[in-house]
Amino acid sequence: MRDRGRGFIGALAGLAALALAVPAAAGPEAAAGASPVVPAPTVPAPAASAPAQPFDACLSDLAAAAEEAGVPRALADAQLTGLAPDPDAVAATRNQAEFARPIWAYIEASVTDAKVADGRAKLEQWAPTLQAIEARYGVDRHVLVAFWGVESSYGAVLDDPGIVRPVVRALASLACGDHGRAAYWRTELIAALKILAAGDAPPERLTGSWAGAMGHTQFMPTVYLARAVDFDGDGRRDIWTSVPDALASTAAYLVAEGWRPGVRWGYEARLPEGFDLALADETTPRSLDAWRALGVRPVRDDPAADGSLPATLILPAGARGPAFLLTQNFPAILRYNTALSYALTVGLLSDRLRGEPGLARDWPRGDRMLSADERRDLQTRLDAGSYPVGTVDGKIGPRTRAALRAYQKAKGLPPDGYADATVLERMRAGP
Ligand code: CA
Repeated sequence: MRDRGRGFIGALAGLAALALAVPAAAGPEAAAGASPVVPAPTVPAPAASAPAQPFDACLSDLAAAAEEAGVPRALADAQLTGLAPDPDAVAATRNQAEFARPIWAYIEASVTDAKVADGRAKLEQWAPTLQAIEARYGVDRHVLVAFWGVESSYGAVLDDPGIVRPVVRALASLACGDHGRAAYWRTELIAALKILAAGDAPPERLTGSWAGAMGHTQFMPTVYLARAVDFDGDGRRDIWTSVPDALASTAAYLVAEGWRPGVRWGYEARLPEGFDLALADETTPRSLDAWRALGVRPVRDDPAADGSLPATLILPAGARGPAFLLTQNFPAILRYNTALSYALTVGLLSDRLRGEPGLARDWPRGDRMLSADERRDLQTRLDAGSYPVGTVDGKIGPRTRAALRAYQKAKGLPPDGYADATVLERMRAGP
């Protein structure tokens, strides 16, 4: 989702994953979405822990800004005056994962047998609702339930007082303490106050993660205002306690992001012997028929798939890991959270919920991931070697992978764009 400020996946997978879920500083790599093995859209931590202005003064400024944006001043003051900072929210922005966890660690933290079993039970329990949502929005129920499972463990984390907190306090703390993204948090805080002003939720219900993501499917306040729907017909858009509202809101969000009915998120794909890995550039769409002509086909045949559907090919863990053909619906999942690891998790969980087995090809589990410094070193070396990466920011996004593929091709290596320790060692060893 636009916000990329969701935190609950982190609660399940540890703080490193939490960092992954912090809103991306918008750069070309981040905007393009895919950022597999790289965790943190990082922002340098403030040098000193003291905020630039006292918290109270910052809160007054926020109240004034909210009033300017149309929130009644009395409501803003009542919500903000006298707040103490949320220590977890501020601490979370300063925790950066030095070593990226491999992409399969993120996926396997969420796509577990227990989560599949719970999800199947939810599919059964909410079958009539899911059928009605499918009928109205054209979004497959397995995808919706997968979002639900990944975002909040089907609502279970909403009852965890260690995770769920008042959203206004968390967002005010971030707006006053996270100097790198203060404007982003301020906008979300004002949106949260607008939710209260509109009477959509009473203050005690306006809870969420440390990053302000709310309810069963973890909407940020701006997204709530734009996309949440009242599906159970009680007149309130209640993503906190109404499962029909929460799941339909996610469907509405996906439709707004271009979701196409009847199209899968993607497929695990089998590559032929001797396949030209340069074609797996994650950006060039070819029809499923055209891929098939190149010998690339879904591991499990989908008779319902239209052969003219465009798809891109990606190798998120290089040539020795699984390959995926991603359809036009995959970017809609990435809009929910821009990390490739996240979007693949949702897709793969939805397949398991549909009753399909896990991946046919295993991940290259022995590979060592690069640290942030090593990722920057790799980028610097690519740049110096006339393989432009854009910004040297320690994030391995589509542009860095394209540069890496060009380097690999020039050196006679398999051009899979996979930035692991082996390729960096090769680079450091010289021309
Ligand atoms: Ca409702």
